[in-house]
Amino acid sequence: MLINSQNIHIQPIQTLSNTTGVHTDMLRLDLIHPVISGNKWFKLKYYLSEAIAQQATAIVSFGGAYSNHIVALAYAGRIAAIPTIGFIRGDASTERSPTLQEAADYGMELIFIDRESYRNKLLIKQKHDHPGWYWIPEGGYGKTGAKGAADILKIVDTTNYTHIICATGTGTMMAGLIQGATALQTITGISVLKNHTSLEDEVMALLEDEQVPNAKYQFVHGYDFGGYAKHPELLLDLMRSLWITEKLPTDIVYTAKLVYAAKDLIAKQFFPTGSRLLLIHSGGLQGNRSLPANTLPF
Ligand SMILES: *Cc1c(COP(=O)(O)O)cnc(C)c1O
Repeated sequence: MLINSQNIHIQPIQTLSNTTGVHTDMLRLDLIHPVISGNKWFKLKYYLSEAIAQQATAIVSFGGAYSNHIVALAYAGRIAAIPTIGFIRGDASTERSPTLQEAADYGMELIFIDRESYRNKLLIKQKHDHPGWYWIPEGGYGKTGAKGAADILKIVDTTNYTHIICATGTGTMMAGLIQGATALQTITGISVLKNHTSLEDEVMALLEDEQVPNAKYQFVHGYDFGGYAKHPELLLDLMRSLWITEKLPTDIVYTAKLVYAAKDLIAKQFFPTGSRLLLIHSGGLQGNRSLPANTLPF
């Protein structure tokens, strides 16, 4: 539905294939669509079909000012001709980011929620719910999202990789990859959030009552660069060089941290010699819109 995955392909990454005997490629999910970029499409697709099947009068979700999820949902709602509503963390006067403006342009109704109240999603839902509304958890977190993410590994043959490495926010994509990979593969999740100690439990919760044998998995913390949207010069430098040498656009929140972590882990011989690594380019460049103009060459 809606989206055609033929642009997705595997790209070798020279920066990450060095003399340590590790080969690294990247799965360019970001090329799937200019707006519904990367993993957000996969996480959304079964939610959308459920909403359509239920003849939902609106699809409702949550997000911050630079949320890839919000803009993807706004666009998807527009093509599916279903109204969308976004509950946005922050207040309207200070937080009209280009991302939110774009979501509004696609027809999403934005409802701003102060930071304190935003923490309690259940209460927001109770207060605002309408019959016919279809709610998607923040970031698409949930088994329905993970089921869609499992389809990521069906697009091209990825069975010859020993490790599939992804950035984790909610961990929904990682859970899907664990479900979609073979039992011989390891899914390595790089956490982009600081002190995200509940990540493992959150991923496990999406895997319970799974019948199929899953891939192995491991969580790596310590590559959050100080927190969600933090972007020290070190990270920006890597992003500039990836653009120049590999023609690879990355974002400050997820994929730049992913590549940085992979590079560092390779240098530290974290992966055994002969490993074949597949990094997931999960898309979503919205975070870069929070940077001053011309910080990045793309
Ligand atoms: C949302 C997002 C992620 C995180 O996905 P989760 O399923 O929440 O872990 C990773 N990369 C990009 C580019 C994203 O937009």
